[in-house]
Amino acid sequence: MTSVPVLLPRVSVRVPAKVNLELRVGPRRADGYHELATVYQAVGLYDLVEVTHAPQWGIELTGRTREGVPGDASNLAVRAAQALADHAGVDTPVHLRVTKEIPVAGGMAGGSADAAGALVACARLWGLDLPAAELEGIAAGLGSDIPFLISGGTALGSGRGEHVVPVLTRGKYHWVFALSTQGLSTPSVYAECDRLRAATDVTAPEPDQVLLAALAAGDRDGLAGRLANDLQDAAISLQPDLGEVLEAGLGFGALGGIVSGSGPTVAFLVRNAEAAIDLAVALAASGTAADVRRAVGPVPGATIEAAAAR
Ligand code: ATP
Repeated sequence: MTSVPVLLPRVSVRVPAKVNLELRVGPRRADGYHELATVYQAVGLYDLVEVTHAPQWGIELTGRTREGVPGDASNLAVRAAQALADHAGVDTPVHLRVTKEIPVAGGMAGGSADAAGALVACARLWGLDLPAAELEGIAAGLGSDIPFLISGGTALGSGRGEHVVPVLTRGKYHWVFALSTQGLSTPSVYAECDRLRAATDVTAPEPDQVLLAALAAGDRDGLAGRLANDLQDAAISLQPDLGEVLEAGLGFGALGGIVSGSGPTVAFLVRNAEAAIDLAVALAASGTAADVRRAVGPVPGATIEAAAAR
């Protein structure tokens, strides 16, 4: 007996942001991307992507960080939904409603999160029974961080970041994120990294085994001492005040601090939930950060919250 997929009128998917615990940037490849070795962690700052059947494609944005996000077909979430429709031969459009809480152009992969959410939500809405590898293939074609945001947790990324394997991680990690008022464009940070390293012989990137051992042991202090980001100098070169933010957070007692991805968000690892509140208050009260968020990682990737008739 063949089962008939149930078509659902509305699906909501919650998708986390990411922080790179390690981001090793190798040489620039012929296709313009850089070869990476990165350790991603999904953290509990979420966007929500809701999809419904509609007579035509559309998107609506809401949430605290929606400013500056395109409300048209150039939005990554719409592009992802349309790529999946093309791939699966679906010709029924959807309306997307994206609630943005992840900082925009902040190095936390907010756009990629929305794309991951749209893929998972639409696959369910359209009743597609795609193998995970197929969905990840579509995700990888749309953006390097998107496959990770489907799976979440803590993972090692290679290639341009799109090949992900889970990393054994014990314990929960408490993070404080210092947001910037001004975003940084990812391509410009990579270009600055190339400029700063022009005279350096850049070797193939390798993940740090000591960092991976710290994660496996649930050793917060060990992890804090190994946080590393090859894009950090480039992000600070473009936004020099990030150096001061890092110094301030460490001065206020963070175990470790790092520019998140291509920045300008700065991520601080702290001992526990109480320390996270203390640091968030200190950063905000001192005027060091325009805005502050707390989150715990690792958390699962894109997760269906509700799939229901309305
Ligand atoms: P990454 O960490 O993956 O490099 P980021 O967090 O620095 O990315 P995003 O928030 O993903 O940056 O946004 C980068 C740009 O992408 C934005 O300035 C915006 O113009 C565009 N964009 C397209 N779709 C979205 C979306 N759904 N959410 C946020 N930005 C989007």
